[in-house]
Amino acid sequence: MPSSNPFRPALAKMQPYVPGEQPQGGKFIKLNTNENPYPAPAAVTDAITAAAAAGLQRYPDPTASSFRRQAAEVLGLPGPEWILAGNGSDEILTILVRAIVGEGQRLRLPYPSYILYRTLADIQGAVWEQTAFESDWKLPAAFGEGDEDLRLAFLPNPNSPSGTVLPPEEVLSLAERLPCPLVVDEAYADFADSHCLDLVRQSDQVFVTRTLSKSYALAGLRFGFVVAQPQLIAELQKIKDSYNCDTLSIAAATAAIASTDWLADNVAKIKATRSRMQDRLTELGFNVTPSQANFVWCQHPHKSHKELYEQLKRSQILVRYMNFPQWGDGLRISVGTDDQADACLLMLSQLL
Ligand code: PMP
Repeated sequence: MPSSNPFRPALAKMQPYVPGEQPQGGKFIKLNTNENPYPAPAAVTDAITAAAAAGLQRYPDPTASSFRRQAAEVLGLPGPEWILAGNGSDEILTILVRAIVGEGQRLRLPYPSYILYRTLADIQGAVWEQTAFESDWKLPAAFGEGDEDLRLAFLPNPNSPSGTVLPPEEVLSLAERLPCPLVVDEAYADFADSHCLDLVRQSDQVFVTRTLSKSYALAGLRFGFVVAQPQLIAELQKIKDSYNCDTLSIAAATAAIASTDWLADNVAKIKATRSRMQDRLTELGFNVTPSQANFVWCQHPHKSHKELYEQLKRSQILVRYMNFPQWGDGLRISVGTDDQADACLLMLSQLL
């Protein structure tokens, strides 16, 4: 670092994202970052090929209108003006924080949950505060209370790492009590029994974010979106990058969101494997939190989770070891194909 450090003080306490979670090459069974184990629908590849063949010399559509029109139709929304698209839902979360939370102001998140909300607050020079889930993964009433300095609250629903869900009525009542907008992060909602999309019609305090990375098997594409009332979307449009989604991604995402039969089949397969994984992990002595996502959070009463994680890794099986001070540690295992899940479960049965 040069003697005169040009970077903002906020960066001093930050760490770059750990590349170890995404090993490039090597033959891993990869169950650590909740990707979909199956390839995306064939229509997606066809759409990318056609868009590339049409030429990439022009800038993309700045508002991804083909995707937004298709998504509004599939999701039963009044129109595309209820949607803003972005480069993964991580970019959408970034846009929301940049648009709503000023330096020194506060944002709130449940604990344990998605770590990125804290990072976004740190980058913004904002202050994050966490409310711990109760032992049954419900939120205490205090999560819905606050003053005018509280600018934004995040609720991953289903939550990570637990895979648990708060029903829409509870989320709406939370949004009505909070003094600020609520972002319901629905990255995993297609694997759940309920979702909160309908709440955006009832409340101008609710933003619902979605991604194509999980249920649409397109983590490598980087495409996500937010649904909210049109006057809110119009404000977010002001601060997004001019061309935040590229021509190939827009074509691919439009084809993906139209693939409703493919989605239903894929989600059914993942849920079936999830159910088998939960049963077998329980038989192996784990405490398993019933999941409504494409991963399972499990804790063994007698074994070291860190050691299990390391032993699995030595056998080329990657799961996520997570340790939350004041809450405990455990393993978060993504739902893979049946063969991948079986390999992981077999290895765990040998290690226990
Ligand atoms: N929200 C949650 C809760 C997540 O777990 C993830 C995936 N890590 C994301 C958002 C971001 O997904 P993406 O940027 O791939 O759309």
